[in-house]
Amino acid sequence: MNSQQLIALDQAHVWHPYSSMDNPPPAYPVASAEGVRLKLTDGTELIDGMASWWCAIHGYNHPHLNQAMQSQIADMSHVMFGGITHAPAVTLAKRLVDITPLGLEKVFFSDSGSVAVEVAIKMALQYWHARGQAGKDRLLTVRNGYHGDTFGAMAVCDPVNGMHTLFKGVLPQHYFCPAPPAGFDRPLADSDLDELEAQLKKNHKNIAGLILEPIVQGAGGMRFYSPAWLTAAAALCKQYDVLLIADEIATGFGRSGALFACDHAQVQPDIMCLGKAITGGTMSFAATLTTSHIATTISRGKANCFMHGPTFMGNPLACAVANASLDLLEENDWQAQVQGIEQDLQQHLAPAAAQSYVEDVRVMGAIGVVQVKEAVDLARMQKLLVAEGVWVRPFGKLVYVMPPYVTSAEDLKQLCEGMLRALEAYFSA
Ligand SMILES: *Cc1c(COP(=O)(O)O)cnc(C)c1O
Repeated sequence: MNSQQLIALDQAHVWHPYSSMDNPPPAYPVASAEGVRLKLTDGTELIDGMASWWCAIHGYNHPHLNQAMQSQIADMSHVMFGGITHAPAVTLAKRLVDITPLGLEKVFFSDSGSVAVEVAIKMALQYWHARGQAGKDRLLTVRNGYHGDTFGAMAVCDPVNGMHTLFKGVLPQHYFCPAPPAGFDRPLADSDLDELEAQLKKNHKNIAGLILEPIVQGAGGMRFYSPAWLTAAAALCKQYDVLLIADEIATGFGRSGALFACDHAQVQPDIMCLGKAITGGTMSFAATLTTSHIATTISRGKANCFMHGPTFMGNPLACAVANASLDLLEENDWQAQVQGIEQDLQQHLAPAAAQSYVEDVRVMGAIGVVQVKEAVDLARMQKLLVAEGVWVRPFGKLVYVMPPYVTSAEDLKQLCEGMLRALEAYFSA
């Protein structure tokens, strides 16, 4: 099949994320990927600024990750997890417990981030049910959040971005309060948590948990907020007997400059969701962690167990490569990598702030965001970015990068400069 045939068949039959099948734009066919480069079937090489949606933190085709998968395939790719266990899963669970915030000791493996969020919600509900407070079956969350595309997760996404009107009557109704005020370094003002506290005061008897993305709100707006706000929110949860559910699916494994974003505030959530980078961008996998207290309470409830068990739970191949990804995080000194990227992003994206079409430029860890004043036409913008030799996938007003941690200073410079040139070309046309 040549590139043109591939693209035509793709357009005829294959649905892509959040895309129309009515005259869909052509997708770029990738033949292979190596390090921080995507290689298109026509030979074009693109520097990857997306890490395949926060996942490929060590770059593509990494020999250590490949080796871990090959060696696991030779033993077994998969076995059921009901009544069976295996070293890759046990090792991974222990390692995750060791590196995540204190108190998280029980690990539930699943196959994607959205499912990890469903599992977290179900844990919170079963916990209160077991404690004889079944009325605590709603969630509280902040606006501009993103927690996944399944119905339970969608119900706690931002009501506007998450298109709640489309599914009105189907989605469970939860409580929303304003997004935390923007800015990692913003000093906490007295009134910053007023709405959150008011909701808790009024509705805590119905609220099982507060679910949020700590410090970095990802797909709901690429916003950063302060550790002080998170610390105060965690304290309010304790005060009103509401569980804190930290969705670290995007932020986990170093992306924000701390291993987990909760670490910026030394907050210990009751439940934590992990996904995306967990396998270094190789396989779909996720985990939901909780405390011994919550796990024991659920297990002594009416059902005598936690009511969840995906077919591919604890997949050995995914666990093996997740362990290998943790090896690399340790060996590569992720902190130095992410700090280096943060400094370079600050330097190379700064010129954008002077442009009339730019609203805001912000950087945190290995995340760089250029927010423009009007939403960009994706197909036109994408073409300009590819012409610059970079792979960046904007959404709405957000043109942003979250590159693999192994990106060299030179590649990062090219990536940022290419992105800014593409923006310039877009807005000067
Ligand atoms: C991506 C994401 C999810 C959903 O994960 P999927 O693997 O796409 O289902 C949930 N929460 C956050 C914060 C995410 O970034």
